[in-house]
Amino acid sequence: MELAELIGLRPVPCGGLLVALTRRCPMSCAHCSTGSSMAAAEEPDAGHLLRFLGSFGTEDRPEVVMLTGGEPLLLPELAARLAGVARAAGSRVALLSGMFFAREGRVPDRIMRAVTALDHFSASMDVHHEREVPRAQVLRALRAVLDAGIPASVHLTGTGPDDPYLADAVADVRRAFAGRVPLLVNEVRPLGRAAGLVRETPAGPDGSRATPCTLAAWPVVAFDGTVAACCNQWTVDRRPVPPHLRLGHIAEDDWQAVRERSLGSPVLRMLRSVGPQRLHARHASAPAPAGYCRSCHALADRPEVLAGAARDAGGRVGELLDRLTTRQQLAAGPADLVRRMGCARYAHLVEAVPGREESGR
Ligand code: SF4
Ligand code: SF4
Repeated sequence: MELAELIGLRPVPCGGLLVALTRRCPMSCAHCSTGSSMAAAEEPDAGHLLRFLGSFGTEDRPEVVMLTGGEPLLLPELAARLAGVARAAGSRVALLSGMFFAREGRVPDRIMRAVTALDHFSASMDVHHEREVPRAQVLRALRAVLDAGIPASVHLTGTGPDDPYLADAVADVRRAFAGRVPLLVNEVRPLGRAAGLVRETPAGPDGSRATPCTLAAWPVVAFDGTVAACCNQWTVDRRPVPPHLRLGHIAEDDWQAVRERSLGSPVLRMLRSVGPQRLHARHASAPAPAGYCRSCHALADRPEVLAGAARDAGGRVGELLDRLTTRQQLAAGPADLVRRMGCARYAHLVEAVPGREESGR
């Protein structure tokens, strides 16, 4: 599975499932949005995870499962077992790693066994990671992954389109793999990186414009086993999760229950179709709080807006609206999605562009 296909599925409701395997991570990046460290012990119960992924049906499953953290490769045996279970139902499995293991420029056997159980492997790189694991070693380890036959990509994060670090790293990755390894380039945002796409959907100034929330499409298994409706880090970490953003818990729910709640929820349909601020503008008796996700969380205290969403999107019309929005985003393609939510200058690199010179420098 290549990166473009994976990102292309991002707007599909329940087309993917994000699983945070552990909050632990041996790196210490200053910008870490998941609050990860080796002291952060939180992780979902392995038995619950295996049971939850085991509930996928061949006709009722996410197309892709993305294993994230923290650092998911601190648990390579569990990652491989989960990949085996999900793939048995027909899902494909990707994993995003901070590459802590690559300090020697190689992939240790224990890690390689997990990597070869995947359909896609993504290496996360940024200026903080590079202080701990040099770029050359990461690229060498990535070469070993490709040589093992596993499609790979690089997730790069920088401060913005003019960040010289991004230009330099993009050029290096393209040179090292002759443009054959795609890149997802993001700008640092105060949101979870688990999504692979980290920017909030920009909102209209007064909610008069529909600004669909693409991140409300894939459920997320959080560090305590709660299943949240989106990967916004505030949603993933806040307890209790606002009811309209809580889809269940892996200890008691199966994939079918989570999927039904996500697809059938009028408020999630409206968030995916028009975004939270448009919803407030349409139904609220008081102005929405500033901020896209803040206004979404505030819906929990706005029963009149939730009731309005239920009227608008509770039935067949809401289902159709959801489908139409998905279809429009699918038609626009993965590069368009990255242009909106990642770093627009490098959006085209989400697809491998062999031999093409990098023009962003
Ligand atoms: S590698 Fe990722 S999860 Fe680990 S500390 Fe850095 S940003 Fe956080
Ligand atoms: S708008 Fe709501 S559903 Fe979308 S990312 Fe923000 S908190 Fe999550």
